[in-house]
Amino acid sequence: SGSSEGEDQRGGVVLSGITKLYGDQAAVDDLSLTIQPGEFISLLGPSGCGKTTTLRMIAGFEQPDAGDIRISGRPVRGIPPYRRDVNTVFQAYALFPHLSVAENVAYGLQQRRTPKSEVRDRVTQALDLVQMRRFGDRKPTQLSGGQQQRIALARALVNRPAVLLLDEPLGALDRQLREEMQLEVKLLQSRLGITFVFVTHDQGEALSMSDRIAIMRAGRIEQLADADTVYARPASAYVAAFVGQQNFFRGAVAEAGAAITSPHALVRAAAPVLTTTNLGEAAVRPEYIRIDKDDPSAPPGEANTTRGDLIGISHLGDTMQYLVRLGDDQSLIVRRPTPDAPVLEVGDAVVCSWAAHHVLLFPADDAA
Ligand code: ATP
Repeated sequence: SGSSEGEDQRGGVVLSGITKLYGDQAAVDDLSLTIQPGEFISLLGPSGCGKTTTLRMIAGFEQPDAGDIRISGRPVRGIPPYRRDVNTVFQAYALFPHLSVAENVAYGLQQRRTPKSEVRDRVTQALDLVQMRRFGDRKPTQLSGGQQQRIALARALVNRPAVLLLDEPLGALDRQLREEMQLEVKLLQSRLGITFVFVTHDQGEALSMSDRIAIMRAGRIEQLADADTVYARPASAYVAAFVGQQNFFRGAVAEAGAAITSPHALVRAAAPVLTTTNLGEAAVRPEYIRIDKDDPSAPPGEANTTRGDLIGISHLGDTMQYLVRLGDDQSLIVRRPTPDAPVLEVGDAVVCSWAAHHVLLFPADDAA
């Protein structure tokens, strides 16, 4: 029946060709995206790519100039934010300072004239979800940043929305707390089965939490895939540069599309992939590069090998990072697990090499 179909779609979000113009500039440009019920999806991209605008259109704070949005199977054009089956958590999660934690969480329910006993039960449940039941009587100023963030989550969850929209909700927290909260938020989401749409410019955050990641560029989605795929098989040089760290070599396409001739290395992939361009880019991740003290008696100029000067060594804990200058215009970042790190000193002449199957080739992307 129609109603059971509707139930199946609860928490699904479908964006069909949505565009948002500010003046003659498209902040979001003909974007389509289907989010499954219960999915954790991140919108990832640099500042200004349209993440927040997309989220605000789902929430109902902005109206698309073109295209349609369906939430839980229903078109939402003309439906105000408070009547959509969504709730939003912002980075600036203004809690009311004069209200207690419990009163803050109860506020939205009271606005809707929910019966008192039901308010009490649901506030308790929501505080339990974020492990903050003991703190119900405190004022927000008596909480740490992470605890305040949990209360903001509880406040958004108390209405039991089918979809939770989160706009950089962990952005104000310091790094360690942010990483803890990432785990907590992910656990909470999988336990509740609520659809999460999470906006971030932090690729580590997106990789660690999401079922799928939409990597945005200039109001469009450049790639939509799970973390493994965007990391190992980025769809473009733009995605390769944005997700994780990369070393790029730029130059003429050679060997029938299987290699790039750059000033500092002939970079060869395992198979020819470039067919139509004169100029290409090869990408190699820092963790796939071997680094050794240079042996001047070794033969020069093999593919996937380059020589340079070691100009920096950083201890990152579990990894050692090396900065190698290849020439005035290019350096290379290399990472080795600390237990296997070679003994090197700044100033050493080094040779770096990598396997062809770790080389990604892309057409040159001047806009990236
Ligand atoms: P950030 O990570 O910095 O929040 P974002 O990816 O969320 O960036 P948006 O805030 O969606 O990007 O903005 C997309 C584009 O639209 C930007 O160029 C921005 O300057 C523009 N823009 C956003 N809101 C408005 C507005 N109210 N009026 C005019 N231009 C706007």
